[in-house]
Order: sequence, then structure tokens, then C-alpha cells
Amino acid sequence: MSFEIRDKDLAGRIGRLKTKSGYIETPAFFPVINPVKQDREVPADKIMSIGFNQVITNAFIIKQVFGDRARELSVKKIINFSGVVMTDSGAYQLLRYGKDRIRIEPEEIATYQVEIGSDIAVIADIPTRDDSSYEEAKESVEETLRRARLTIEKVRESDVLWVLPIQGGVYVDLVARSAREASKIEGYGMYAIGSPVTVLEKYGFSKIVDMVAVAKSILPLDKPVHLFGGGHPLIIPLMVALGVDTFDSASYILYARDGRYMTEEGTYKITDLEYLPCECEVCSRYTPKELIELEEKERAKILAVHNLHVINRELKRVKTALKEGRLWELIEERARTHPSLREALNTLIKYVDWIERLDPRFKGDAHAIFLYDTTSYHRPELIRHRGLIRSILKERRGKIILLPGNPDEKPFRNSEIYRVALSRGVISDESHVLVYLPYFNLVPVELDQVYPYAQFEMPLTMESQLINYMTEEISKLISEKTAEAEITILTCSKYAWSKQELFKNLVKQ
Ligand SMILES: [Zn+2]
Repeated sequence: MSFEIRDKDLAGRIGRLKTKSGYIETPAFFPVINPVKQDREVPADKIMSIGFNQVITNAFIIKQVFGDRARELSVKKIINFSGVVMTDSGAYQLLRYGKDRIRIEPEEIATYQVEIGSDIAVIADIPTRDDSSYEEAKESVEETLRRARLTIEKVRESDVLWVLPIQGGVYVDLVARSAREASKIEGYGMYAIGSPVTVLEKYGFSKIVDMVAVAKSILPLDKPVHLFGGGHPLIIPLMVALGVDTFDSASYILYARDGRYMTEEGTYKITDLEYLPCECEVCSRYTPKELIELEEKERAKILAVHNLHVINRELKRVKTALKEGRLWELIEERARTHPSLREALNTLIKYVDWIERLDPRFKGDAHAIFLYDTTSYHRPELIRHRGLIRSILKERRGKIILLPGNPDEKPFRNSEIYRVALSRGVISDESHVLVYLPYFNLVPVELDQVYPYAQFEMPLTMESQLINYMTEEISKLISEKTAEAEITILTCSKYAWSKQELFKNLVKQ
């Protein structure tokens, strides 16, 4: 097995990917290295010292510049990098210059990648252009699959980890077809989804969420999935949550050449900054003014180092959140940085039933879950728990008492209202007590010690939508139980979710 999954949260995972030059811990980012210009920008050893043990470079450019010599030199010598090297077949050049000007023979470039010593190699796919018509997109799907089958002998006989790209672009039914057919071709160790850079510019993050979620829900779970060009730290948490394992991008240097400074919350023009909100080796040495005064090429080089630090830091933050089971909280937090990310999170919520099936039932340490607003309502754990409770409630007969939960008094049986109801005889041995509380809706009180009913934090003020979800659930319970149960609702005007008027249409006064 070349990919071992070591931890999971939502649809994301921490994995260990085996290549012939060693292991990579995923989620991992592959900085794009230009084999010709690289030394004048960020040298490979610098990239490694920042924390990247893997890079991606372009076999097509190497072939054009170095030709047969590269076979003796090897790709690692050419780019001067001793870690894991992934090579692309020139799909980007195809996208940029068109197939009339660029000719790439699939079998030839596959052989070439093996000969120059790539660890991970992408077959010569036909990427779907962002402005493709449906027919053109379909053609790129079929042609990539044809090429995947054409090179299959090469793929099976080499010790390279081969990547099969999924095409279809913004047409999700084509993405689904591409993923379905790709899964049937044995021999590929990895899949890739592309090319989000242009999609991102044109359609925003939501479309990428659709593409990735659709492809991921079809592709085999035991293989890693790469995202081409997903290079901004903004997009990384959301993509990891959907199960993307590796990323690559040249954005760190492209942005730097343009004087753009990345942060986890967005990008700034360096000329607009008075302070550098970062403590990396660059930001602790320079002021924005000093950076602006540098010669342009020198400035690009230095800004690129900062940008790489930001990407690396965000990956570490994502891995920490994933390990703690807090990936959902991180993507909620990141969704605040830009409305389009918030929109992308809404799109992700469409796929939350699929995510819930992949989300691990138990994490090592049961941490408290933080509930912020309506978005938190869609957390996979809550979906799972509400489903479970619904099935338990089906069995309930007789006397049912509903009383308000107080998030500050946990477990629920410690709450004042519970104790008062008990001492006044409202609750007896025969009664089933259900706690009602937004986010959870209904919780049988005897489960009050079960995770997460005693391990959560929520604000006491909340959007009315959350209270509506709860009253809908209560009204459903009442309509199902009219004939077989006697239901009493206790209210407490102290809590927004327990005002009498919320229930006046539900019960006989
Ligand atoms: Zn910095």
C-alpha cells in the first residue's frame, strides 16, 4: 500500500504517501519550480529549508531545454533538489498555447519522465479549459481516459507513482463520468483534479467545491487526490476538509513578482501595507518600506519566501485542526475572511451527508465542540446525533416532559430547572425527559453524559433560524405522538429558545 491514512476529520485525512525517494506526509504542498528560471528566484534548497520536502516541475520544459541530456543529469540534479519530485507533462503549456502549437506524445513523455527519475508523474492529459463548451469538455474527458489506457503498460512496469487527472471542469456530470471511468483503470496510484486557477478567477470557490466533492465522492478513498493549482492559503482548509491530499502551485512566486503579500486571510499589495502581519524570516527582518525600496527581482525573491512560509503555516494549522477534530471550526473561521469563501462553505453544506459518512465517529480525545451560528448546525457530528435521537424517540410512549437545556449547566441533569422539576414531582419515574436546546434540538436527558451533550460551547444569543429548527423538531415529535403520548413542555423565559410564545401553537394551553 503506497498510501496509508493515519487520521481523519470530515472528509479530510492525514496520510503517509510512499514514493521511491521517501515518504510525504499529507496534506502536502508542492511548490512549482521552473527548471530554467528557478535559481534566479527561490532556489530549491531554500524551498526545502522552509519546510517543503516535495516540489513539482515540468517535464515538458525539461525535455525542450535539456532534451536527452536530462536522462543522465536526472531531474533532481537539474533543479538541485534532493526531496520528492513530481513532474507534470505540460498540460499547462497546452492550456496556454493550444494543441496546435504544442505537441506532446503521451507515451514518449511518460517514458521520458521515468528516465529522468521523477518520483511522481502526471500522464499527458488534456486539461479542460475554463471556457470549454460542454462538447469540448467532454472531449478532454474522453481523450484523457484514452491516454490513461494507452500508457497503462508504462505505468504498471515503472516504480513511479502515476497520477491520472480527472477532467470535466465546471460540468460536474462530466467530472463524475471522468472519475468513474478513471477508477476502473487499475495501476494509477493517485488522481488529480484540475485546473482550479482559471475556474477560481471566473466562478469563485463554490465551483471548485462542487468539482472536488463530486470527484471525491466517486474516486477510491484509499488513493490520494491532488489539486492542481490550489495555491492560495485561503482555499487549503476547505479543500482538505473535502479530502484533497496534495496541492501544487506557482502562486507564491507569481504573486511575489506582482508585489503581492499572502496572508491566511487574503492578499495585500505590499505597497498598501504599513505593517507586516507575520513573524517569518522575511517579516521579522524587513519593513514594508524596505521591501518596496528593493530592486524588483530581489523583492520578488524575498516576498516569495514569505508567501511559502504562509502556505506552510496554513498547512500545519490545518493538520493540527484535523488531528483535534476541529477542521469544521477552522473552515467556519476561514469563511469569515471573504464572502466568496462563505458562499463556498454553503456549497460544501450541500455535501454534508456524504462528509458525515466519512467523518470518524470517535476521535482520541473528545474535545468540546464550539457552536457559533447557523453554519455550525450543519456539523457532521450534529447531523449524526440528531439522526440517532430521532430513531430513539420513535420508541417513546407515555409521559414525555420537555424542558429547556442550559448550555452553562452541564450535564443537563445538573441544571436548576431539572432539579426543581424533580423536587416538585413534575418528573416521575415513568416520565421520559427530553432536553430541548438549539443545535441539538432534542436530547433524552439520560444521554446527558454522552459526547457531545456535555462537551460543547455555544453563545446564549442566537439567530432565530436555529430556534426555528428546534421548534420544528418539537412540533414533528408532537404530531407523531399525539395518540400515544402525553407531552408536557416546561418553559423558562430566561432563554430565547424557551419563551412560551414559541410553543403556543403547538400545545393546548
Ligand atoms: Zn512573513
